[in-house]
Amino acid sequence: MAKRKTTKTKAKKQVQCSKCATPAVWIKTVRGKWMLCEIEGIVTEGGETICTPDGRILRNAEPGNYGNVPHWQNCKYGNNYRKGGEYGDD
Ligand SMILES: [Zn+2]
Repeated sequence: MAKRKTTKTKAKKQVQCSKCATPAVWIKTVRGKWMLCEIEGIVTEGGETICTPDGRILRNAEPGNYGNVPHWQNCKYGNNYRKGGEYGDD
């Protein structure tokens, strides 16, 4: 089977958080769920939870990984996100 490079940027849908109106993006995770993340990606210093551009959730990430922090971590209504299950990892 021919290998196909799938490193192209996946479509990101820029929206506003429905709770706090902060601009954010939906990133599709490898599990096929959408996670609302901060627009600006970060390089981890170690210990963060991020969603990588290819949709993997890194918890307690090693230093030097690039990704976007799930918005609920910064959202003042973050508790509602967790209850609502929008943090789409299980
Ligand atoms: Zn918010």
